[in-house]
Amino acid sequence: MMGSVKSGMSEANRIPIRSEISCEGIDRILSTISHLLDSVPPEYLPGLQEIVLCDSYVHPQENLYVNSSVSNGNLPAPPPYWGLYYRRNARLEPSIHIFVGTILRWFPAPMCRFRICREAIFGHVLFHEIGHHIHRDIHGGGGDPEKAADQWQRQLNKGFMLANHPWLWRILRLSWVQNWAKRWRERYGKQDGNAGTCDDRALSQAMGSASGGKCSGIDLFEQGELEEAYLLLENAVGREQPPGLATLYFACLKAVKTLDRTTVDKVITQVHGNVEEDLCEQCWGATLFDLGYHEEGIQHLRLAVQLKPGRNRNRLVLADRLRRRGNDEALKWYESVLTSELGEGKWSAYRGLAHWYLDSDPKLSVEYTTRAIELNPYNADLHYLAACGLIECDRRLDAIDQFQAAVDLGYDVTEAAFGGIAECYRDLGQREKAVKYAKLARKANPQSDYVRRLCAELGCTDV
Ligand SMILES: [Zn+2]
Repeated sequence: MMGSVKSGMSEANRIPIRSEISCEGIDRILSTISHLLDSVPPEYLPGLQEIVLCDSYVHPQENLYVNSSVSNGNLPAPPPYWGLYYRRNARLEPSIHIFVGTILRWFPAPMCRFRICREAIFGHVLFHEIGHHIHRDIHGGGGDPEKAADQWQRQLNKGFMLANHPWLWRILRLSWVQNWAKRWRERYGKQDGNAGTCDDRALSQAMGSASGGKCSGIDLFEQGELEEAYLLLENAVGREQPPGLATLYFACLKAVKTLDRTTVDKVITQVHGNVEEDLCEQCWGATLFDLGYHEEGIQHLRLAVQLKPGRNRNRLVLADRLRRRGNDEALKWYESVLTSELGEGKWSAYRGLAHWYLDSDPKLSVEYTTRAIELNPYNADLHYLAACGLIECDRRLDAIDQFQAAVDLGYDVTEAAFGGIAECYRDLGQREKAVKYAKLARKANPQSDYVRRLCAELGCTDV
């Protein structure tokens, strides 16, 4: 079916969306993509020239072979991609192609009539390709581009869902689109392509090993996503020549995991000279502290601040450890981060202050947590912390909302959040609801002593 070719522009982010095809429902798809695009924080999009909607991917060489007499079926067909990220090259700015025809042929037709389904399907593809852009163009590549793109895809999708369908988030996280994508991969291999002047994987490995290439595990570590960082760093360590940040960060995580300081003690000498000295001291100090060598750890952390006072993270890591020892010198360092010109780490400073005042001045604590959440809205720990402060302020209904937000955002200790909700309802005299949440807590972790006590107290002993 032919018609006029549509184009558009995402409203908030002003990225042109051009459609080269005209099929049934293309208007709805255009507006879905524009809506999805507007949920992406603008700092992830610089340089992205346009989004192009096409029918299906045509391998440039395919035409060449079709015209030659030798071809006859000997060329393996390229996988029918869902999307493609065109990297920056000498002539072109980065762009993203989405192969709407291919996608629509893969999913049962009625699915794309529902807005939520369209958002899930096209969000999956679009966010993955934007992930390639962030990884390659904004962060300079390094590591496995597919893993990095998948991680960004999950993060961007989370942001979109929380902004648009917060209550569906938990259900849709089990994402049926992921299952379709998995079946696709099983049949065809990769679901998208990374087009450029040479093979992306080889290039990124070369970049990751040359200095300057940054692997995404490093970013995740620095953002505090330690579990996710661990695997990426583990993969990157062998390739890092000479041993640098990835090796150092991995050694820190491993030392804490295995409760063995020798791992990090050894690596410090290996990376010395390749990693800035203050970072070495910061990581070393934090790890030693976390392993129980408190005084030794704090000495290293002080040295890190001395070596590079301008790095907010040095001061934050020192402040957090001082706070955990009950040393009010921590407050001075938090304040210094808040008054610094860099925005980096301000939310962590507010979080630190909120922890400090949780017992002595819960109202102030909640104020600080609120500011931290404004700066970092999708952090589950912050919502949990807010809930704890709100209980101390006798604001139990608000606390319930915050516990629930923490659960929705994937808070690690789910039983504690559900338990918290149960306790709030108990204190509010709503026993039925209290029992309901105590049972959810038990379902999340049947072994927990806390949950057993709570269930026994509320009388929900039946399983
Ligand atoms: Zn990809």
